[in-house]
Amino acid sequence: MAVIGSGPAGLTAASDLARRGFRPTVFEALPVAGGMLAAGIPAFRMPRAALEADIAAIVASGVEIRTGTALGRDVTLDALFADGYEAVFLATGAGKPVSPGLPGEDADGVIASLEFFRRVNLGEAPALGKGRRSGGRRTGGHRGRPHGDPAEGVLQVIVFSRFAKNALPAFPGGSPRPRRGRRFQVRGPSR
Ligand SMILES: Cc1cc2nc3c(=O)[nH]c(=O)nc-3n(C[C@H](O)[C@H](O)[C@H](O)COP(=O)(O)OP(=O)(O)OC[C@H]3O[C@@H](n4cnc5c(N)ncnc54)[C@H](O)[C@@H]3O)c2cc1C
Repeated sequence: MAVIGSGPAGLTAASDLARRGFRPTVFEALPVAGGMLAAGIPAFRMPRAALEADIAAIVASGVEIRTGTALGRDVTLDALFADGYEAVFLATGAGKPVSPGLPGEDADGVIASLEFFRRVNLGEAPALGKGRRSGGRRTGGHRGRPHGDPAEGVLQVIVFSRFAKNALPAFPGGSPRPRRGRRFQVRGPSR
């Protein structure tokens, strides 16, 4: 079996297949395995040591993972079948950002959260300047979160949210505590 994508869906399928006696190969486009767990969710939320331990256990169970190998770029479905794979599971996720359609959203300096996270998590931190604004509930909260810290050097962070402040799941149990010298605000409905 070939599995395309090494996020939770691909790794779970591959792990279950290995447990049933198959020898699946996971093909991953990025240089790291884990999908959003490695390239999307920040390390303060998804500790990398735990993720790496889980992936190592999956590999030890009989799963091969080939990173840096994209279906459509480095391999094709025809080539996989010609190589002897009898089935292919597509677990490519939903990694394309959906823009809200706002005027100016494609201006220089505007960056979608998934792209921002991918670059930070893969070690290509984008230049942020001294102020930064985030939007959204889950990724906005994570992006604006003042420790972690992909926003080193940023002095002011404003999270704009259509959800109430206490509904931001990135801050369970209360307001975030900004680092010293940094202003952090959440603007949204009061309840
Ligand atoms: C900031 C953030 C916080 C989140 N917090 C939570 C949470 O608290 N709880 C929760 O349940 N979920 C959370 N999620 C959502 C969760 O990460 C996703 O639902 C989950 O990762 C989806 O798994 P997946 O395997 O379907 O896709 P993904 O994790 O996106 O993995 C797909 C993989 O396929 C690879 N791929 C794509 N195209 C190709 C190709 N052509 N060839 C080879 N490989 C390819 C991609 O590079 C990627 O590695 C969060 C997401 C983000 C971004």
